[in-house]
Amino acid sequence: MDSISALSKKLSDYLEPKQVEQVQRAYKLACEAHSGQFRSSGDPYVSHPIAVASILGSFRMDEDSLSAAMLHDVIEDSGIPKSLIEKKFNKDVANLVDGVSKLDQLKISTQTEAQAENFQKMVLAMAKDIRVIVVKLADRLHNMRTLFYLDREKQLRIAKETLEIYSPIAHRIGMNSVYRELEDLAFQTIYPTRHERLTSAIKKNRGSQNKVIKKMQKDLEKRLHQGGLPALIEGREKHVYSIYRKMKERKRSFDEIMDVFALKIIVDTPANCYKALGLVHGIYKPVDGRFKDYIALPKSNGYQSIHTGVVGIEGLSVEIQLKTQEMDDMAENGIASHWLYKSGNKSDTSPQVKARRWVANLLEMSESYDSSKEFIESVKTDIFPDEIYVFTPQGKIMEMSAGSTAIDFAYAVHTDIGHHCRACRINRKLAPLSVPLESGQTIEILRDPLPQTSPAWLNFAVTPRARNSIRHYLSNLKTSEAKKFGKKLLDQSLQSMSIRLRDLDKDDLRSALDSLGVRSLNKLLEEIGLGKRVGNIVAMQISNSLNQTGNKKSKDVVPLEITGSEGLIVNFAICCKPIPGDSVIGHFTAERGLVVHQERCKNILAVREDPTQCFPLNWHQELSRTFSVEIKIIANDEPGLLANIASSIAQAGTDISSIKTHEPESGIYEFNLDLQVSDRLHLSKVIRRLKTLKAIISVNRIHDQEMRKIKTLH
Ligand code: MN
Repeated sequence: MDSISALSKKLSDYLEPKQVEQVQRAYKLACEAHSGQFRSSGDPYVSHPIAVASILGSFRMDEDSLSAAMLHDVIEDSGIPKSLIEKKFNKDVANLVDGVSKLDQLKISTQTEAQAENFQKMVLAMAKDIRVIVVKLADRLHNMRTLFYLDREKQLRIAKETLEIYSPIAHRIGMNSVYRELEDLAFQTIYPTRHERLTSAIKKNRGSQNKVIKKMQKDLEKRLHQGGLPALIEGREKHVYSIYRKMKERKRSFDEIMDVFALKIIVDTPANCYKALGLVHGIYKPVDGRFKDYIALPKSNGYQSIHTGVVGIEGLSVEIQLKTQEMDDMAENGIASHWLYKSGNKSDTSPQVKARRWVANLLEMSESYDSSKEFIESVKTDIFPDEIYVFTPQGKIMEMSAGSTAIDFAYAVHTDIGHHCRACRINRKLAPLSVPLESGQTIEILRDPLPQTSPAWLNFAVTPRARNSIRHYLSNLKTSEAKKFGKKLLDQSLQSMSIRLRDLDKDDLRSALDSLGVRSLNKLLEEIGLGKRVGNIVAMQISNSLNQTGNKKSKDVVPLEITGSEGLIVNFAICCKPIPGDSVIGHFTAERGLVVHQERCKNILAVREDPTQCFPLNWHQELSRTFSVEIKIIANDEPGLLANIASSIAQAGTDISSIKTHEPESGIYEFNLDLQVSDRLHLSKVIRRLKTLKAIISVNRIHDQEMRKIKTLH
């Protein structure tokens, strides 16, 4: 059993005394919180958090992760509030503990592979900070190591969940040793006899395998050396579960699998992989049909290597992989999963591959950097900024775009369910239809026998599917019905601004209608009822027009002020990505509501002067959110380039939400980064910082589609 003093000693290898002291304080709080509680093994409960912290210590994780590991069960088991953890430690520790507790509350019941995959994504989406996942994996690893103390039923449930959810996650974020151990432990639990037989067979087999492999390794090394190709040659080890999986999936016997010997040859450049291949085929005869060139044609997940099969010493079948160190690191770090950073262009693997390397670099940094703070700041980006995952009452997982509401959910399940939606329950509690959903929630739609479709839904539905279905339905309404609907809706929206339609005098009403570009009130109400205009926005425009006539009599339209927190109906254009400080203009469309563009945006040019479509906007003085902006960096390649860029950006207090990379010519790199900034000042601070880096050639903001394209420089 690990003790706190042994752990402290281990931690002081890489942490400051003050940091170790924080972990010790967390330990004390855990002791108090869990006093009188015991594990199934009979050990005091606190032995578990110590063990979890020790596992994290072996990855050289930071003091906040270690403190969170100590406290990971106190919210759940001892009712200690998150606020107390924040007070005694800091916000990060509190958020980490809270994040791990939230994951524990998820009830997992997977039936299909697709479901398991979505569940993995949900877990990742819920953890905004990747450290939550790392702590959770260490927790799971210790629980798996001590699983045999539990009853059989629990053992099986936990082992199955580990195989379906947690070991794949470990694989995806590149924690390969954890991944292998989790799989082997789960396999051992579910099939103890098969595990035992397989393990002893592997042991026996390995004795003879080693001799052959050693001899071939030597011969190859000599031959490659003579050919002027320094190479690193390793035998490749498979873990027990992967052998079992191969036997099952490929329906092959143990001997068939173990008879295939595996070697990995690592050389310095891709060109030398091909050269080395020639030399290998010169010594050993290649087997027909076994050659695969994943360097020229990488696998869809970015994996690169040359595979060949040869007839080795004593006629044995040998599988050989040839790759560079870089390719090997990528495969081992395993971040190589397509979800991490989406690249729209699937045929071009290069930006994807480079983006993964970036994350892999960050993971390496955690070990080698003095300041783990910088590292952590850089990984604290949302992994899934654009998607959320929610459950249907049947436990099926639905992927929705971020900001979706119950109405969007209803239409995503079925158009009819959307039309008949009367109310919803979120996690079994009645909730307004307009509330944005969060990952992990269970959504139930209550239906009415009659259609309930209302133009009011356009005030908060965000998905194209829902908005189109609603508008389509409304467009079939009779004019009189539409007007009635529209009136009710506009009255409601105006009420929240303390304006009453019938109190408006004739002149005010006239100028309001003029500014909206509509000829009569009836027409306006009809358009709202038919879903051609959105009630909330019309109300904002009317209120704005009233303020203006009160102040002055000029014909200039006074700009509407936006805060960015109006809710879902004010969108920010993705073509020009406006941020506070930019001159902006509002473009109104029935499909998307109000879209804020930069005044200079080319997409808005044709309709800029049309008052029915566009109107002036100003930024509000106080804005409490961040905005998405894109920049392009061109830089000379140098070691640690990506890591340096990432930490510069982190130092400027900015999150990176995505990154695309491209190498237009050898030695020159081009990056498109998506950043979260508060305004133009903040952005210029980031750009200034980046420009101090020696390798940087240029940094520019991306304003339009043309610039966004990754171009080849010549
Ligand atoms: Mn635990």
